[in-house]
This record gives sequence, C-alpha cells and structure tokens, in this order.
Amino acid sequence: MLRVEGIHTYYGSIHALKGVSLRITEGEIVTLIGANGAGKTTTLMSICNVTPVREGKVSFRGGDITRLSSDRIVAQGITQVPEGRMIFPVLTVEENLLMGAYLRRDREGIRRDTEKVFDLFPVLRERRRQHGGTLSGGEQQMLAIGRALMAQPRLLLLDEPSLGLAPIVVENIFEVIRQINLAGTTVLLVEQNAQMALSIAHRGYVLATGEVIMEGTSEELLNDPKVRAAYLGED
Ligand code: ATP
Repeated sequence: MLRVEGIHTYYGSIHALKGVSLRITEGEIVTLIGANGAGKTTTLMSICNVTPVREGKVSFRGGDITRLSSDRIVAQGITQVPEGRMIFPVLTVEENLLMGAYLRRDREGIRRDTEKVFDLFPVLRERRRQHGGTLSGGEQQMLAIGRALMAQPRLLLLDEPSLGLAPIVVENIFEVIRQINLAGTTVLLVEQNAQMALSIAHRGYVLATGEVIMEGTSEELLNDPKVRAAYLGED
C-alpha cells in the first residue's frame, strides 16, 4: 500500500533521513521505533510532503506521491495525527471534528462519521460543545485521532500518541487504535513507547540517526536482545 524507497530529507544542512526505506501492506499496523532525534517524525513528515524529500520515492497504492501537495495526499487517503495533537483550542470538539472533514461534501456521511468517532471515544460525545483547549491531554489526543478519522483515511499516520499521558489513558487509546485498524484502516505508528507500540503492531522498523537499522515482526523485535536493551529498558 505504501512504499518508501531510499528517501533523503534535510533540514538546511542537517541530513535527517539517510536513505530510509519501508513498506506497509494494506491492513497492517506498522510501528517505527527509535530514540529521540532518530528521524521518526521526519519520516512521517516526508511521507506527507510537509518536509520535502530530496532524494528517493514515496508511493501509495501504486502512484508516486513524493511531490504531491499535502492536500492532495490527504485526498488520496493518508492522514496524519501530528505530535502535540494540534487541535484548535477555541473551537468546540464538534467543530474540531468537522475541520477534519474539510475536503468532504457529503453532509450525511460526515454526520455518520462524527457519530462513529463518538462511539470510539464516548467522552468526546459528552464534551461535544466544549472548547478543545479545555480538554485533558488524553482527550485532546482522542480528538486529534477522531479529527483525522473524519478525513476517511486508508492510511493513518500517528506520531507519538502516548506522549505525556497516564498509562491507563495510553492503554485506552491503543485499544482504540487496534479497533480502528480492525475496522479497515492501515496504521503507521511512531512511538517512543516501544513496548506499547510493539504490543499492537504487526511489524516494526527501528530507526537510528536517520537510517533503518532493523526490521521484523513485532514478536521478532520484542525478542531481540539488542532491541530489548536499547528500546525496551532492559539490561
Ligand atoms: P522525537 O521523538 O524527538 O520527535 P524523532 O525520531 O521523531 O525524535 P526527528 O524529529 O525526525 O526525530 O528528528 C530527526 C533529526 O532532525 C534530529 O537530529 C533533529 O534534531 C532534526 N530536526 C528535526 N526537526 C528539525 C527542524 N525543524 N529543524 C532542524 N532540524 C530538525
């Protein structure tokens, strides 16, 4: 479904991605793990062409999307939930969700999908008229995921959904990510919390200093001594 082939991305003179390649098959949850600064966020930004790729290619469902505008990429079915959530604080929960549907014109479908988001995250239904900025961190993350779903993505890119959240909230959000995947959306998940990410992912890639240094099924990575020592907090 998604094929990233040898991409190089720069921030000025900083060579952030040095030939990253990965592929995602329809229906999978794939995770990218790695330390701070490894290039995980940059990989997501490069897929969406928020940060331009200088060399290499990104293709989605057989078509080259490397140089498409971010809007066109959303229209093709890729939506990103950015790190830090980026919800609109002075819009209500419901208005934030509608912003996610900005490319759609099917009012009935939009209404149905809003209800689906409320079914996934019942707390958002309770708070539908509340301003986004007044929500807790976990609720804002739920809203950011819900808003992304309103674009009806085939591929959902999630950047650090667990960041700064209590373990119980993280578990809830990860369970919903699993449900979203079971309902047919393919997921690329970037996480510092490698244990949690590998617990729901089918496969994973390990990034270090802008390169893929390892890949495998989640089980292989969870059982790999190097991964355990470097990313799962074991000696
Ligand atoms: P984190 O978990 O901290 O987000 P990451 O693995 O997602 O880490 P990136 O944010 O992709 O890493 O960063 C990759 C490299 O690019 C790092 O060396 C970082 O300092 C650099 N970098 C990221 N964003 C910028 C930017 N806007 N300007 C300059 N350098 C940047």
